[in-house]
Amino acid sequence: MVQKVGVIGAGQMGGGIAHVVAANGMKVILSDVSMDRAEAGYAVIEKNINRQVLKGKITESSAKTALEAITLSDTLASLSDCDLVIEAATENEALKTSIFAELCKTLKPEALVASNTSSISITRLAASTDRPEKFMGVHFMNPVPVMKLVELIRGIVTDDDTFDKFQAFATSLGKEITNSEDFPAFIVNRVLMPMINEAVYTLYEGVGDVQSIDKGMRLGTNHPMGPLELADFIGLDTCLSIMQVLHVGLSDTKYRPCPLLVKYVEAGWFGRKTGKGFYDYSVEPPKPTR
Ligand code: NAD
Repeated sequence: MVQKVGVIGAGQMGGGIAHVVAANGMKVILSDVSMDRAEAGYAVIEKNINRQVLKGKITESSAKTALEAITLSDTLASLSDCDLVIEAATENEALKTSIFAELCKTLKPEALVASNTSSISITRLAASTDRPEKFMGVHFMNPVPVMKLVELIRGIVTDDDTFDKFQAFATSLGKEITNSEDFPAFIVNRVLMPMINEAVYTLYEGVGDVQSIDKGMRLGTNHPMGPLELADFIGLDTCLSIMQVLHVGLSDTKYRPCPLLVKYVEAGWFGRKTGKGFYDYSVEPPKPTR
């Protein structure tokens, strides 16, 4: 039975995963590169849980229990006695493999390990651990407390017991499951990211401005958010990394990241999390940057 869960990365995804796991009665250790980062992640969780109380979705006492179930850390060794660990650090393969190598030095042998990667090969990530059969992709959607879906991805070595346990774990969080094979970006981002990248090309080539593209797609295709708003919400650094994984992994020029997306990331314009992307979030309502 999963009682204690380690979450690596206290950004928007790691924080959301820690929130949902703690709200479902498990202990969580939330770790990041520094206590400052971990505390910033915790502050967001606190704000989101308190908002759920105000909306009457959860009681004050269950909010308190959930918040008390989360411990913060800046070391991977502190996750050593977790039953299950989910890595939700920055979308970068070298970074993730170095995290897994370090984690496995102290993690108890029977613990299961997952990555929340949006696109990177689960089989390759599994190979950087000492337990590839106990490893798989568990791809939560953003924002985790709101979105119903978890995409489960088996690596070639993942065993049936691990798959069954992760399926039961995701179900215990109240999530719906979809299964994807281990190919670049799996299902959700294989379909979504080329659309976002195409929206950036549409902007780059001057077919429309930011607002026209987002309004066109919101009202024209009934999407709740326009593709550029959504890109800012996901993080433009993450969008670019996923496009690069698709481009390299499938060796097809149709996945070439739009140069404008590259330029925004080079400028440090990552979207909402840095305050500026296709929109400038320092003003209300956010102002298009093009
Ligand atoms: P983010 O930038 O909000 O957070 C990443 C966090 O990882 C940061 O707090 C950073 O300090 C931390 N980190 C970096 N190196 C670390 C290390 N060595 N040890 C511990 N923590 C470290 O990014 P995010 O949006 O939360 O994305 C995290 C992962 O989730 C990525 O793999 C991404 O592809 C995936 N994902 C993102 C979304 C989305 O919509 N943003 C959706 C599903 C999955």
